[in-house]
Amino acid sequence: MIFWTIVVLLIGVPAVILGVPALRRSLVTPHIFALFKRILPAMSDTERDALEAGTTWWDADLFSGRPDWDKLMKLPKPTLTAEEQSFLDVEVRHLCELVDDWESTQVWQGIPAPAWQYARDKGFLGMIIPREYGGKAFSAYMHSQVVMQLSTRSSALAVQVMVPNSLGPAELLLHYGTEEQKNYYLPRLAAGKEIPCFALTSPYAGSDAAAIPDTGVVCMGTHEGRETLGLRITWNKRYITLGPIATLLGLAFRVVDPDRLLPPGTDTGITCALIPTTHEGVVIGRRHWPLGAVFQNGPTSGKDVFIPMNWIIGGPQQIGKGWRMLMECLAAGRAISLPSTSVGTAKLAVRGTSAYCAIRRQFKTPIGKFEGVQEALARMGGNLYMMDATRKLSALAVDLGEKPAVISAIAKYHVTERGRAVVNDGMDILGGKGICMGPSNFLGRAYQQIPIAITVEGANILTRCLIIFGQGAIRAHPYVLREMHATADKDQRRAELEFDDAFFGHVRFVCANAARGLWYALTGASSAPVPQQADPAMAGYYRAVGRMSTAFALLTDTSMFVLGGELKRRERISARLGDALSMLYLVSATLKRFEDDGRQADDAPYVHWSVQDALHKAQLALAGVLDNFPNRFIAGAVRVLLFPFGMPYAEPNDDLGGDVARAMQTAGPSRERLLADGFLADDLRDPVACGELAFALLPQVDAIEHRLKPAVRAGQLGAMPQTLPLLDQWSAHAVSLGLLTPEERRTLADFARFTDLSVHVDDFSPDLNAAVDAEQRRRMTAPAIVLEV
Ligand SMILES: Cc1cc2nc3c(=O)[nH]c(=O)nc-3n(C[C@H](O)[C@H](O)[C@H](O)COP(=O)(O)OP(=O)(O)OC[C@H]3O[C@@H](n4cnc5c(N)ncnc54)[C@H](O)[C@@H]3O)c2cc1C
Repeated sequence: MIFWTIVVLLIGVPAVILGVPALRRSLVTPHIFALFKRILPAMSDTERDALEAGTTWWDADLFSGRPDWDKLMKLPKPTLTAEEQSFLDVEVRHLCELVDDWESTQVWQGIPAPAWQYARDKGFLGMIIPREYGGKAFSAYMHSQVVMQLSTRSSALAVQVMVPNSLGPAELLLHYGTEEQKNYYLPRLAAGKEIPCFALTSPYAGSDAAAIPDTGVVCMGTHEGRETLGLRITWNKRYITLGPIATLLGLAFRVVDPDRLLPPGTDTGITCALIPTTHEGVVIGRRHWPLGAVFQNGPTSGKDVFIPMNWIIGGPQQIGKGWRMLMECLAAGRAISLPSTSVGTAKLAVRGTSAYCAIRRQFKTPIGKFEGVQEALARMGGNLYMMDATRKLSALAVDLGEKPAVISAIAKYHVTERGRAVVNDGMDILGGKGICMGPSNFLGRAYQQIPIAITVEGANILTRCLIIFGQGAIRAHPYVLREMHATADKDQRRAELEFDDAFFGHVRFVCANAARGLWYALTGASSAPVPQQADPAMAGYYRAVGRMSTAFALLTDTSMFVLGGELKRRERISARLGDALSMLYLVSATLKRFEDDGRQADDAPYVHWSVQDALHKAQLALAGVLDNFPNRFIAGAVRVLLFPFGMPYAEPNDDLGGDVARAMQTAGPSRERLLADGFLADDLRDPVACGELAFALLPQVDAIEHRLKPAVRAGQLGAMPQTLPLLDQWSAHAVSLGLLTPEERRTLADFARFTDLSVHVDDFSPDLNAAVDAEQRRRMTAPAIVLEV
């Protein structure tokens, strides 16, 4: 009897109270709600704007613990219209031909004037502007394709084209401009008559850009001879891309209204305005020199510069709304710009390095056959496949109308980091060829400048620690934002109802994830969902994502429950949770790309390598959270629940790495898909072009060498020499013996010539500066050596 009384009291009564909504809402919810309000970390307006800006998408599925694969797989493959394809094939290619990265850097210290003029005239600066204003109205995917291709030629060119199409005057005008502002500026921006820049960063407000000290004081002043209400702005900005040559300055500053000239209740704060750089008091022109890169970048300042109110983007009613505007526009732009430039740089690195590995011999063996080199090559190929997949899926999200705040941060961080890894591996493989600067070095500049992509549009450490998970945990979580909104609602009754619904939904969510996490762990996730049409060879990866997504969701809630507001400061915990979420996004993008490309069997090694690597990294991230979790008991319990038999996912093995390295060194459709839409010059002055030409002849050269082996063994011929004069004599002898046809002799000679150009390293006379200048003048006046292949 006593036993049953205890059971009823401990289980039955709480079950009835929690199970009957009316009882629960009157007896339980108000207390939890009050507690929640007390422990919720304080949030500033700028933090709230950042959190609420943009939309959630596939990240929310990954957060749910049950991603809906069919939804993802049914999304269209990103494609170009006929007009976009033609622009890529003709105008973008031509612009690439007008720029030589070495020349721009060494001679012009900028993009050559004809190339920049061509970019302006042909509408490269107006790719995101609608046709009604004379713009190209390209899709986000096309925009990404353009920036990516330009990056395979010159990163400085890509940056100068990218910035006007990213967060800046055009984007802000499109969303918030008055009709008058749009009608005046958008056609001028589309036609390249205005060069825009956007200035937010100040010397003492970098990552914490909401802390800018630049001010606009509301006051009366004279504009065009008339007394008018306006702002007296003082600013000091740095790092502004296109700033030194801009004609139109987008400026963020803080409005203050000491004389109360604005209507009562106007919410002063961060505000954005457009200022012609010819306006009196605007200081531009000086340049920074970012790691030797020559895109235009520099400081701007102004002291007590008076502007009329109608120069504020969107007019006076947009005073104080600048931060929200920037956060909303950043979500889309960040998904395109730096992921695209990083993929372009990685394609350049992979094209040049993989060809070099196949043609460069040491110890009488192509270096790409050494296991150590294959290990680095495999990382390059696997990373590039996944980077490109992530770029495409993120651009697709923007084309579908999303402003993917979390996904764009994931793409920015992980694609730029992998870009850096690809370039590092390429440099290690190239050896001295990558070290010595000169026109024959195709990777040295990329290596020098890769930290730029890491730093801009949200420096990567901050993006990893604060943005991906900090925003993701709240934005993409199915319940947390609703709970937070409820606490902010002034209507107590409505707030409690909303909170009750969200909170108990949240409790059910946690219980379901715990049960599913254990079930998946015990069964190897064999029942986790797989899309209906999935390639059976990839089914295990979908299941693995299901399992890790459940584990991630449970660990996220555990961390929020145990650490509460402290989680914001425990960046190493939240960064690892963000890493796990990011890896699941990258795997999703890779699996979708494989399906979109028509399940190409030859591409499978890239998919297997990159997915296994990312699942292993996701698992390491979750293990890192558990290892460092402050509450050891809870960490132990969660580990037993989610990983009772240890960590399940191994790194890609050596055989798989070897398959990837061989695929990269095999000419054909799979390699072309990996390198698709990169620029390849048809000029023998370009080291990458020379490498490709030698690489293309390699199968024929290998076949000849193989055929002649018996003759070499029998002593009829010496071993085939690599260098031209010796090869010439050797092949003449072989022809005279009837072992080689004249045509084969020509093939060998071409191969040796292209290889020679490809392995060539520049040298200069002792006075390096003068020598580099002279070499440049010689190169610039020499005609292009155009190939006829
Ligand atoms: C080449 C270049 C071009 C640029 N173009 C523009 C432009 O056109 N317009 C414009 O307005 N700005 C521009 N910027 C500014 C750029 O966006 C900022 O540099 C960037 O946001 C970082 O600011 P910072 O360099 O002052 O670094 P800081 O803010 O000083 O950061 C230093 C380090 O601290 C880390 N950090 C900061 N806060 C946190 C945190 N809470 N948690 C963890 N780590 C943190 C950062 O990740 C970084 O590693 C450009 C910068 C460069 C270098």
